[in-house]
Amino acid sequence: RQLAEISDTDQLTGLKNRRYLNRVLDEELIRCGRYRNPLSIILLDVDHFKQFNDNYGHLVGDDCLKSVGSALKESIRNGVDCATRYGGEEFCIMLPETDVKGALEVAERIRTNIENMAFLVKGDTVPVTVSLGISALLANEQLKMDKLLKRADEALYAAKAAGRNRTMIARANQSGSDPLNTVVQHKKLN
Ligand code: GH3
Ligand code: MG
Ligand code: MG
Repeated sequence: RQLAEISDTDQLTGLKNRRYLNRVLDEELIRCGRYRNPLSIILLDVDHFKQFNDNYGHLVGDDCLKSVGSALKESIRNGVDCATRYGGEEFCIMLPETDVKGALEVAERIRTNIENMAFLVKGDTVPVTVSLGISALLANEQLKMDKLLKRADEALYAAKAAGRNRTMIARANQSGSDPLNTVVQHKKLN
């Protein structure tokens, strides 16, 4: 059991890793599809992180990712929602029983918590911001995990393109259309 735990865990942040997400998201999609429950995911990427590493060094960059991981944990429902390190400076949060409105609330809470987290480098506060993309399973929708992730990634890409430090929501089911067309809402609450 210890070995299984280790292979599901990201060493740097202590969050669950992509391997774990792939497994539980697949299960959760089947369960939510069967009971027609909502399900949302949020894909999050640290803004200008290459520049951050260049400015402060890779070790400080690692510390920053740990702080982002902690902020994520503190911004979600313990034991229900699941925050994972998806890879590099990218994170994915799975929100079972949560519709797009709820996911937007969580995403904006995460975004503002990170914006306000006061990350210190040698006594100086350094700004850290993130961009987020939301993708939600609609009622009666049978969606494969890859599609759900792809939609979230398109919304995230749009959030980056629109200026970063913001949340975008992927619109459902525009099969075959231009990815940017599938992203509708942009919400920045403050
Ligand atoms: P954007 O706002 O468009 O996301 O710009 P970006 O610079 O964050 O994106 P880009 O993909 O160009 O760079 C990602 C950077 O994240 C480059 C890589 O070195 C850094 N990175 C990825 N994983 C780690 C890690 O584990 N530790 C540290 N310190 N840096 C990492
Ligand atoms: Mg990235
Ligand atoms: Mg980035």
